[in-house]
Amino acid sequence: MLYEDYLERLIKRLADEENIEQSGQEIFAEVAEAYQIGKLEVSLELPPTFYTKEGENGTAVLYQAQGQIKSAADYVLQHTTGEKGLVQLMVYRLEGLPAFTAEEERGLHTILEALYMNLGRWRLIRKIKRLSMTDALTGLVNAGGFLTYIDELLQKKQLGRYNAYYMNLERFSLVNKRFGVRETDLIIARYAKAMQGTMLPDECLGRLGGDNFVALVRKERTEEFIERIKGMTVYGMLGNQEMPVLVSAKAGVLQLDDHVTNCGNVLSDCSIALHVARHIAKQQIVFATDEIREQAYKEKQIENRFAEALQGREFQVYYQPKVSLDKYELVGAEALVRWQSGERMIPPAAFIPVYEQNGMVCELNMYVLDQVCRDMAEWREKGIEPVRVSVNISRKNLSNPRLTENILAILDKYQIEHSWIEIELTETMDVEESAMLIEFAEHLKAGGVAISIDDFGTGYSSLNLLKTFPADVLKLDKSFVDQLEETDKIVLSNIIRMASELKLDVVAEGVETKQQMEYLKSIHCDVVQGYLFDRPIPKDIYEERLKKKIYEPPQ
Ligand code: C2E
Ligand code: CA
Ligand code: CA
Repeated sequence: MLYEDYLERLIKRLADEENIEQSGQEIFAEVAEAYQIGKLEVSLELPPTFYTKEGENGTAVLYQAQGQIKSAADYVLQHTTGEKGLVQLMVYRLEGLPAFTAEEERGLHTILEALYMNLGRWRLIRKIKRLSMTDALTGLVNAGGFLTYIDELLQKKQLGRYNAYYMNLERFSLVNKRFGVRETDLIIARYAKAMQGTMLPDECLGRLGGDNFVALVRKERTEEFIERIKGMTVYGMLGNQEMPVLVSAKAGVLQLDDHVTNCGNVLSDCSIALHVARHIAKQQIVFATDEIREQAYKEKQIENRFAEALQGREFQVYYQPKVSLDKYELVGAEALVRWQSGERMIPPAAFIPVYEQNGMVCELNMYVLDQVCRDMAEWREKGIEPVRVSVNISRKNLSNPRLTENILAILDKYQIEHSWIEIELTETMDVEESAMLIEFAEHLKAGGVAISIDDFGTGYSSLNLLKTFPADVLKLDKSFVDQLEETDKIVLSNIIRMASELKLDVVAEGVETKQQMEYLKSIHCDVVQGYLFDRPIPKDIYEERLKKKIYEPPQ
């Protein structure tokens, strides 16, 4: 029979369908015509359960024909659900049509039963979809939910009204230490709720996990929202005591416009801005400009090319001579890395900070040391007497517990006398790090390697460091000699006197003029490193200096 034919088709369609509210009109069209149905309506009255805290009440029209529809239903299918709720499926005819025949009612019954069976499934799908878009701890949307919302606004061409934010809570590891993991979770949930309370209905706040949040906020509320980011007080429980917790975040902000085409880019651009805020600009809030994006892109490239460049020996060691002021004699050199990338020479300022951040600098430093030792062995072969060379080691290297052994092993591989190598280290204000630094320096010193404190005077606790740090050499930062104002002179002459009492050698960096040199000489600073004598120079030119050893007095 014809009607069974389309009944079968309908049941199959229902089973395949995921969103009946959207496609009901189309799915029921054929049946509606056959039965002359005016309207098909579902009503739900579901009590609250563990999963749906508010229960679910309401009606939805799944199909509606053109024309006047009867006010009372012609056929109703009722079901009580497992949770003692009531589901009603109601069929209305168009005004003026007679009631259904018994046979039609049997057909309708089958249709509505099939619909009812699928209703439960659709509700489940909806619930899962909602859950998969939600962060369990805070009830905010997660990354998926956030992107879905951005996408919706994108479709509606309304994205341009908003700024997107990527936030990371500051010092949250301290909160964790103080309150413990469980209470910290609750603090995050309270923070989320407090922030959510400040949002407008069309704005969106999401959590990406951990202490990372995202937000979409109207442009005219930027200032207001940034104030919230800077500080929001919630509470945390310590024992029975409620303690105030000031939660502040660092944030990257992206000003959206309607030209955005890919919602994934919104998140990644914001996260780039956050990265800049945290690691580079060290500011609390950074707006993602084209410049920042370009910078991030360049850094990414520098990062990606590291292994290849190392393999291809693109990193080269330059030597900058250190010259004694009594005889203008070459007494040492600092090894400074250069990156020869094709025709281009990339200065260390462009890549060292990037590699400092991701830890690659450790490998690079060891590579430089290796290259220096290799060069020294070569000069020995050629009968050229070398001078001591200093190599920069980053504090990042300290996390390697075998650092001293590794360094000495490189020296021994080329049979370089330990006293020919000096390691330059910079000061630190971190107490724990400082302890590690001192231990490392003591080990090296015991191994016969010299130690210098680099950029002395720019750091934090310089004077204290002199007492505790087993250094052989102080390298005075260039900033002392740049201007040579009266105060510089006072500080400088006193540092040099103190250093000589502590039996430390002093090297003044960045000496560019004869006048600077004369002053340094007058206060008994004996060794300088600077453009006045030489810039950092490639190995072959440095080799010439090594052979000659003596400089002409500067004119
Ligand atoms: P730094 O260790 O303080 O090195 C001294 C810097 O001052 C060098 O810059 C040198 O070229 C520059 N300089 C020396 N004399 C003068 C002068 O008279 N005038 C001026 N204007 N500058 C002078 P460079 O080679 O660009 O290196 C910059 C920084 O990059 C270094 O500062 C160091 O922190 C880092 N770096 C370079 N090579 C390495 C390396 O192999 N390992 C590590 N970890 N860092 C390195
Ligand atoms: Ca240095
Ligand atoms: Ca320096």
